[in-house]
Amino acid sequence: MPKLNQPPVDAEQRRSEKPIICYSLDKLPVYDHDLYERARTSMKKCDETIVAPRDASSFNVPAGHFFRIVSTEGPQVGDLNLWNANDLSEHFFSGKTRQLHASHVSTGDRLWSNLPNLRPLATITHDTLDWYGWDEDGAGVHDVIGTRCDPYTNSMLNGVDYHHCCHSNLTRALASTENISLDEAETHIHDVLNVFMCTGFTLDTHQYFMKASPVRPGDFIEFFAEIDLVGALSTCPGGNCGSSHSDDSTACYPLLVEIYKPNESTLVDWQPPKANGYTRTHGV
Ligand SMILES: [Zn+2]
Repeated sequence: MPKLNQPPVDAEQRRSEKPIICYSLDKLPVYDHDLYERARTSMKKCDETIVAPRDASSFNVPAGHFFRIVSTEGPQVGDLNLWNANDLSEHFFSGKTRQLHASHVSTGDRLWSNLPNLRPLATITHDTLDWYGWDEDGAGVHDVIGTRCDPYTNSMLNGVDYHHCCHSNLTRALASTENISLDEAETHIHDVLNVFMCTGFTLDTHQYFMKASPVRPGDFIEFFAEIDLVGALSTCPGGNCGSSHSDDSTACYPLLVEIYKPNESTLVDWQPPKANGYTRTHGV
């Protein structure tokens, strides 16, 4: 659309205001690198789940355990949902995580839960793709921008039903593991962490773009469960998300989820997240 209004005479002055970071994290506990490293070096694998291509699987991670999402056979993006294992109404809050940290997350960042809890569900403790940083297109890895591919958007844009979008994969996985109906499970599916996905906004039109993921077999991202978690991971039908999504035309690969238990002695100084301090009276 052409712009319908001429810039005012002071347009350049208005545009020259300095950006400020919206949220200062100065008062939050800093990422305790030494504590997590002590726990990591003591941990032993206690479970694993293989997520088949164009499908999803769920998994449980007790508080104080780690889990890894591992690339095994080829470059593959994963869409991750996380819930409080004891209350599915508390789940990962992609939007606030983005506001508190950045559009893409890596080691030291936390995955926050929705209101009214707003507490860390998990902390990222290792990311073999942390070298990627920001490329010349402005893209990064592990985004909390995108929502998840879904059959509704696909129907709206392409006029066909496709049943293996991440939204449907996650719905089937949660329905199966929680023994609830598809309709009920679908209400719990939320905006994801796009694991291994390489994305950004175009510099000229600020449109969301994706490019082939730099992930290779052996790469992993690792999380520490700050509370008891249920997770679900979908292997996106977009594969490496370098060409398409929401169809069966792209090469897709499995992903591996590994659960690790650290030696409890390494966690004596670990404090599970406190309840949020807001009174919830909303001014009344
Ligand atoms: Zn997807």
